[in-house]
Amino acid sequence: MSSILIKNGRVIDPSQQVDRVADLLIEDGKIVGFDIDQKDHDTIIDASGKIVSPGLVDMHVHLREPGSEEDETVRTGTSAALAGGFTSVACMPNTNPPIDTQGSVEFIHGQAARANNCNVFVVAAISQGREGKELAEIGQLVEAGAVAFSDDGSPVSDHGLMRRALQYCLMFDKTVLSHAEVLELTGGGVMHAGVTAMLLGLGGIPPAAEDVMTARDIALAEATGGRLHMMHVSTGGSVDAVRRAKQRGVRVTAEVTPHHFSLIDESLRSFDSNFKMNPPLRGQGHVTGCIDGLIDGTIDIIASDHAPHAKEKKMQELDRAPFGIVGLETSLALVITKLIEPGHLDWSGALEKMTINPARVLGIDRGTLEIGAAADVTIIDPDVIWRVDPSEFRSRSTNTPFTGHRLKGRADTVIVGGVVKFSRS
Ligand SMILES: [Zn+2]
Ligand SMILES: [Zn+2]
Repeated sequence: MSSILIKNGRVIDPSQQVDRVADLLIEDGKIVGFDIDQKDHDTIIDASGKIVSPGLVDMHVHLREPGSEEDETVRTGTSAALAGGFTSVACMPNTNPPIDTQGSVEFIHGQAARANNCNVFVVAAISQGREGKELAEIGQLVEAGAVAFSDDGSPVSDHGLMRRALQYCLMFDKTVLSHAEVLELTGGGVMHAGVTAMLLGLGGIPPAAEDVMTARDIALAEATGGRLHMMHVSTGGSVDAVRRAKQRGVRVTAEVTPHHFSLIDESLRSFDSNFKMNPPLRGQGHVTGCIDGLIDGTIDIIASDHAPHAKEKKMQELDRAPFGIVGLETSLALVITKLIEPGHLDWSGALEKMTINPARVLGIDRGTLEIGAAADVTIIDPDVIWRVDPSEFRSRSTNTPFTGHRLKGRADTVIVGGVVKFSRS
């Protein structure tokens, strides 16, 4: 029997409404309980002044393997996840080839086992080849272990296909994750369609491109009873649409990314492609809309949309550089600095969106410190001030817009399945 006692930490487990100083005992990879007086431990971790959270879950991560190993691999991406405090990630299927067969799901599981870092849950493609034409073999993919379905990177433009996806996934109680974008409205766009885009002479991506698709998805979820999750919500309009849908009882959840509640479109004045992502950084009104959604619970989840790109790709001029930024290693600190510190969310409210809520959407038995649960634990130093230096990232890529930012708080120790996988001290 191997055991770890985490002493004197402030244990915050939103899944059980726990928020108190306690000792947490782990044995043989499982949570045993709080404040159990037991003499012999293999490891004692003093968590005085620290926060002891269920292991963080990031349900929106691009690991780039297979096909773009120059950007990231399962090994480097999961190593970055650990450094960011994440014990579980869900990886997106827009790889080359896409994750749309049993073999491709098994490949990712195999790479994750070899890397032996954090848990990797596989999101499989909605359509064969991610071509948006024929439904993938949903049943077989579920059998192989796919936890959810998405064509992320691209929208599902065909309304009939999206309806069938919601219907089929419902049969397996799986959620469809939607990248909401009307391509006819975004074509050629580089950044948010606003005053800054006009001043800079750059092609704009209007909020309506997201809002129209959000409305369609909600209508189809309502019609089918299917489980829908809106990824990377970036507009006030989409937040409103999700809010109203929830009030009607539609089975919809939503996420925002740290960059969408931290940055605005004016950052593109630098012409730095590390501010280019899809959906784009919006104006302050939309940022406020997203934060309001986080506060009132319309937005259930915070996910990074970790999208690594090798330097030579991002170094191209703004029009040609790919969309996306890395996020795993700055996500938690941005939540603390931009949401908890200003008082938008309390600790429990913030951690709920990074633990039990994403676990529930994916239907995985994680994100909790319940007795008997897998011992995935993140110990957070809430007070440390640090400066973002991409050269220290464990990710293979460094495409972050937060270089040089002073942030507060980060993961100190990360335990996966009862094993310490990361420790700063
Ligand atoms: Zn997307
Ligand atoms: Zn994505």
